[in-house]
Amino acid sequence: MTPLNARSIAIVGGDGIGPEVTAQGRRILALVAEKRSLPMKLMDVDYGSDAYKKHGRLLPQSTRVAMSEADAILFGATGGPAFDAIPAPVRKAESLLAVRRDFDLFANLRPVKTMPALYEASSLKRRVLDGVDMVIVRELLGGVYFGEPRGIETLPDGERRGVNTHAYTASQIRRVARAAFDLARTRRGRVCSVAKENVMEAGRLWREEVQSVHDAEYADVELSHMLADNCAMQLVRAPAQFDVIVTDNLFGDILSDCAAMATGSLGMLPSASLGPFQKSERRAALYEPVHGSAPDIAGKGLANPVGSILSVAMMFRFSLGLPAEADLIERAISDALVSGARTADIANGGKHVSTEDMGDVVVSKLTSLLT
Ligand code: NAD
Repeated sequence: MTPLNARSIAIVGGDGIGPEVTAQGRRILALVAEKRSLPMKLMDVDYGSDAYKKHGRLLPQSTRVAMSEADAILFGATGGPAFDAIPAPVRKAESLLAVRRDFDLFANLRPVKTMPALYEASSLKRRVLDGVDMVIVRELLGGVYFGEPRGIETLPDGERRGVNTHAYTASQIRRVARAAFDLARTRRGRVCSVAKENVMEAGRLWREEVQSVHDAEYADVELSHMLADNCAMQLVRAPAQFDVIVTDNLFGDILSDCAAMATGSLGMLPSASLGPFQKSERRAALYEPVHGSAPDIAGKGLANPVGSILSVAMMFRFSLGLPAEADLIERAISDALVSGARTADIANGGKHVSTEDMGDVVVSKLTSLLT
């Protein structure tokens, strides 16, 4: 029987490489729970194209219940060819976007931190990699991914037209701005707000609302503004200049993949998607690597599990209230990389280990640190 004060975690592998990398994140969760005698209930649940084959649902009811009862969710990835073959109404109603909306996960934190052991794997020069340590805070429930109207229509002259709507309310902007300012207060105290206010009205509102929240509530935090196209350039020119970036759903999606290359691979990046605090001080939280289902390498043991394992570290920090354990997980990854363990994406064409072997090395380093 599960002890009453046990923390429950829903484990959702999903599609493509999702289950492969999540299995390694799960091992880390279980290891810390065992070594620290933490009562923890890990609930493995189905999601994605395999769930659709089994249950006729992408998101079976049992998975939805487990996710809503859990203290935190560890998610793998979604998407890919099998997913694309599922009828559009099912995909729309039960997609990861719908999960984010249903759990009100509005703030997506994407840390990007370089490690000297991986400088050679980065596409950027060593001299720009020193000191890169930023968090991109991406608004996750607004903008063009959710805006209505949307769709593909045929005009009277027979021409087809695709429509998406980029829209933000002031309150959507203000709550993610607060999340970014709060985070900056725990770091180096700087926020850069990124939009395209020069050509987009929603971008102008973004800038005005972020500035207004700053002036009224966070004058101790340094705020700057940058156009999104300039930010893309600055991320490869001088990425160490950033502390916290706050930006919308689309720009956050794109800029974080771009920033990932400072670390050597998209497979290195974790994320936390957080909801608002409830009266009980609890908040819904979903942790997942930034990458997708990577159909090109799925099932081959080639996926880098570090993004998933670092997502578990974020879970210890933001949902389980155990920042020291989060630090140890991050140190175990650093130790594993210093010892030379590399998955193919960060091996520069050299010797590499499988997804599971990489998990073994991190487990072994963490075991030493926890004892
Ligand atoms: P992707 O992130 O899946 O892959 C991009 C590239 O990075 C690929 O070459 C892939 O092999 C590589 N890569 C990604 N993760 C890796 C890892 N852990 N280790 C080593 N290499 C890794 O993006 P994509 O190919 O553009 O999209 C594939 C599918 O994933 C699409 O259906 C897309 O919609 C979906 N997607 C899902 C999420 C999510 O689940 N949150 C995020 C992005 C994309």
